[in-house]
Amino acid sequence: MKTYWQNYIDGAWVDGGAGRIDIINPATGEKLAEQALADAGDVDRAVQAARRVHLSGALSDLRPVERGRMVQAMGRYLLEHLDEIAKTLTLEQGKPLWEAEIEVRGAARYFEYYGNQAETVEGRSIPLGAGYFDFTTHEPYGVSAQIIPWNYPLEMTARSLSAGLATGNTCVIKTPELTPLTNAWFADAAEAVGLPAGAVNILCGLGHEAGAALSAHPDVNQIVFTGSVPTGIAIATAAAQNVVPCVLELGGKSAAIVCEDADLDAFEKDVRWGIYFNAGQVCSAMSRVIAHESIHDELVERMVSVAQSITVKPGIEQPEFGATMGAMVSDKQRDRAAGMVSDAQAQGATVATGGRPLNRPGAFLEPTVVTNVTPDMTIANEEVFGPVVSVLKASNDAEAIKIANGTPYGLVGGVFTRNLDRATQAARQVRAGQVFVNEWFAGGVETPFGGYGKSGYGREKGREALWNYVQTKNVAIKLNS
Ligand code: NAD
Repeated sequence: MKTYWQNYIDGAWVDGGAGRIDIINPATGEKLAEQALADAGDVDRAVQAARRVHLSGALSDLRPVERGRMVQAMGRYLLEHLDEIAKTLTLEQGKPLWEAEIEVRGAARYFEYYGNQAETVEGRSIPLGAGYFDFTTHEPYGVSAQIIPWNYPLEMTARSLSAGLATGNTCVIKTPELTPLTNAWFADAAEAVGLPAGAVNILCGLGHEAGAALSAHPDVNQIVFTGSVPTGIAIATAAAQNVVPCVLELGGKSAAIVCEDADLDAFEKDVRWGIYFNAGQVCSAMSRVIAHESIHDELVERMVSVAQSITVKPGIEQPEFGATMGAMVSDKQRDRAAGMVSDAQAQGATVATGGRPLNRPGAFLEPTVVTNVTPDMTIANEEVFGPVVSVLKASNDAEAIKIANGTPYGLVGGVFTRNLDRATQAARQVRAGQVFVNEWFAGGVETPFGGYGKSGYGREKGREALWNYVQTKNVAIKLNS
C-alpha cells in the first residue's frame, strides 16, 4: 500500500495546505498511511475548478445519455479494481473483507443506477391556452459539495457523486478524516472515463477547517451532507447564509417492533444484519428491538445466541462471507460505545451478553445485547453507533408504536408480524422515512432513503434523489397568432 495519499484538485494530485494526517488501521492500532489535509485555500481551488467546468457546459450541455454512459463506466471501473479497493477499505475502516467487497459492489451499483437515470430527467408542458407554449426543464445547480462520513466512505460518496454527475453537476467531495483512502479511486475512475479535469475533486481535511470552508463557500450551489446531527446543523446554517439547498442524511435510533406472531427464525437473520453488520456503525442500524411481552424472553434468548455466534477478529482475516465482525473504526468510537453500555447498566439495564472490549490490540467490541431497557434511558434515545442492540418490552401495538416514535430521530423502522393489516397499520404510524416489514434493510438503491425529524431532510437513493440535484426552470412563450 502507498504510504502517502494526496488530494485530487482540478485533475491533479496535490499536497494539502494543512499538512498530513495519520491514517490508523483500527484492527491493529498501527499507522497505515498518511493522507494530505486540505485547508481553506485548497477548498477554494477545488470549488473554482468545479465552477469553471460547470460554467463551460462541458457536463451540463451533453446529451444526458452521454453523461449517463460515463457515470455507468465509473461503476465498472470500481468493479475492475474491486480487490485492491476492498482491501484498502478493510485496512482503514475495520470491516471484514467480505463486507468491504459488498460495499465496493454497492458503490458501483449507484453508478449503474444513476447512470441509467440520467436521460429520464424530463420536464413537462403546461397548457396556457392558444396564445402560449410553456414547458419546464430541470437544470443542474452547478457545484455540488458532498461531505462524507467514515462508516461507508465509498458507498456514501458513490450515492451522491453518481446522482450529482448524472444530472450534470460538478462535484467537490470532502472525505472523512478517519477513512479517506478509498475515495482516491473515484478520482481515478473520473479520469478513466474521460470526465474533464475539475469535474470531480476529492479532498480530505478536518471537519471544522476544510468541511466548514466548503459548506460556507459562496460558489457552492448545493450541499449533500451525511453524518451526525450537530454537524448537520452547522452545515445547514452555513448553507442558509448562502441561500443554497442542502440534503441532510443524519443519524437514527431505529426500532424493530416484533409482534407475538412474528417469524422468529427469520428475525434472527435480521438481528445479524441489522445490528452487527459493519459493527453496528450504520445510520439505519436496528439499534432498538421492541418485543411483544409474550415473546420477549424467547426473543432475547435467540438474540443472545446470535450475538455469541459471531466471531470478532481483524477484517483482513475475513475473506469469506459468514458470522464474523471486524474492528470498530477507532478506539475512541469503541470506548464511547462501551461507555454507553456501562452507563445503561448503571441506569438499571441488563447486559445480556457482550459489552466489553476484546483483550487484544485494536478497536474491537463484543457483540452486545442490552435488555430491561426502558424508554427513558439514554441508551434508548441516543445513537450508540456500535454493535449494541437495546431490547424494550411492549404489551400491545399502540405501546410499541409510542416507544418506536419516542426519540427525536426518524430514519427507518421495522415491523415483524405475519398479519398484513397489523403491518400496514404500523407502517402508517411509525414516523420514519423508510419502514421495513419482515426484513430489515429490505429495499435497495432504487428505494428512497432519508429521515423524518432529526434524522434529516431530503432523500438519497431512488428517483427522489435526482430532484435534489436539479432546479426547475419554467419557460413561457407568447405565440404570435
Ligand atoms: P460527523 O458529523 O462527525 O462527520 C461527518 C463529516 O462531516 C466528516 O467528513 C467531517 O469531517 C465533516 N465535518 C465535521 N464537522 C464539520 C463542520 N463543522 N463543517 C463541515 N463538515 C464537518 O459524522 P461521523 O462521525 O463521520 O459519522 C457518523 C454519523 O453519521 C452518525 O451519526 C451516523 O448516523 C451518520 N450517518 C448517517 C447516514 C445516513 O445516510 N443517514 C449514513 C452514514 C452515517
